[in-house]
Amino acid sequence: MQTLDFHPTGRHFLQIPGPSPVPERVLKAMSSPTIDHRGPEFGALGLKVLADMQKVFQTRQPVIIYPASGTGAWEAALVNTLSAGDHVLMYETGHFAALWNKLALRLGLKTEVMGLPGPEAWRHGVRADLIEQRLKADAQHSIKAVCVVHNETSTGATSNIAAVRRAIDAAGHPALLLVDTISGLGAADYRHDEWGVDVSMGGSQKGMMLPPGISFNALSAKAIAASKKAGIARSFWAWDEIIEMNKTGYWPTTPNTNLLYALSEACDMLLEHGLETVFARHQRWAEGVRAGVRAWGLQIQCADPAVYSPILTGVMMPEGVDADAVRRIIHERFDCSLGTGLGQIKGRMFRIGHLGDTNDLTLVAALSACEMGLKLAGVKLAGSGVLAAMDYFSSHAAVVPLRRAA
Ligand SMILES: *Cc1c(COP(=O)(O)O)cnc(C)c1O
Repeated sequence: MQTLDFHPTGRHFLQIPGPSPVPERVLKAMSSPTIDHRGPEFGALGLKVLADMQKVFQTRQPVIIYPASGTGAWEAALVNTLSAGDHVLMYETGHFAALWNKLALRLGLKTEVMGLPGPEAWRHGVRADLIEQRLKADAQHSIKAVCVVHNETSTGATSNIAAVRRAIDAAGHPALLLVDTISGLGAADYRHDEWGVDVSMGGSQKGMMLPPGISFNALSAKAIAASKKAGIARSFWAWDEIIEMNKTGYWPTTPNTNLLYALSEACDMLLEHGLETVFARHQRWAEGVRAGVRAWGLQIQCADPAVYSPILTGVMMPEGVDADAVRRIIHERFDCSLGTGLGQIKGRMFRIGHLGDTNDLTLVAALSACEMGLKLAGVKLAGSGVLAAMDYFSSHAAVVPLRRAA
């Protein structure tokens, strides 16, 4: 019989790419007493978090907050803008893109999945040129939406969303651009307005450093116009009543009050540090972790350095090594959780998260757990990833980049 002996001593190393470690400041905020969700105090909190989330999405347009996981935000984006039978282009970059496609099919959408052929599909970001080609061939404008994942959490590739916008414009195509930045938001640069995204989906438990339980839609005028004509039945997810009530800081249904305290605190942290600083910090952490993986002589799941994720790194195992067996050793021996391989790459790789409440030393410790676990599993390593990461972190001081003008 196995006992569930969590966190026997010290602290657990939660190195999965979401849920991510939650800062103590945020946990403390969450534990404040629950208040009347129709009272005056609540209205002020509601207005604050809605305004904060506009800053985080870098938008001046409405942001919807749902008491739901990221999957709810996926569904909300589709049911508010589309009608059953609509032709939708889904770009497959990995497991999350594939799951979103599955959800779209269940809603009665006619999806067309595109992407690179074979295993390469899950090792790259979105190829905007392929989207442009496809849209140019759609002279009838039958495609109603282009769906892409910004930070593909199953592989560690962060696609260039500005390039996708340019591709849609270059094709002169009216399709909506729907972007899943559920794991990217709050950790990787994301600009809803500047990139001309129609609906952006965010989640709480990854880059936003919150527990699971809330998710977001950021809208555009075009998306709101589409929602007036969209034919899929919806009630709980419907934007119209939420937007109306949000004007005074309230919601039609009961919001998850304590998670909104947490959201308010997390937004304060992100905005106090400055988004540019937060993004640069994650890029630096990612580079340090990749230096470690390279020193081991192992392959990084994302094959294109231009789209390496600042949030997580996928580590591919040599032929014949079961990544989940390595993860199990690391968990049992060193109390460190790593992300499992998902979908078609299950067992072939594991994922190291470098997001949430973390720092250089947390990551060096996580890499040391990996290095010990890999050795115990009999994996031949070319060198020490821990030393390489230490070299990187010690020779690259964290810099505070100049803040862009607001
Ligand atoms: C986590 C995640 C989701 C799904 O979110 P849930 O909160 O698990 O419902 C969707 N897309 C991406 C890219 C994710 O990382």
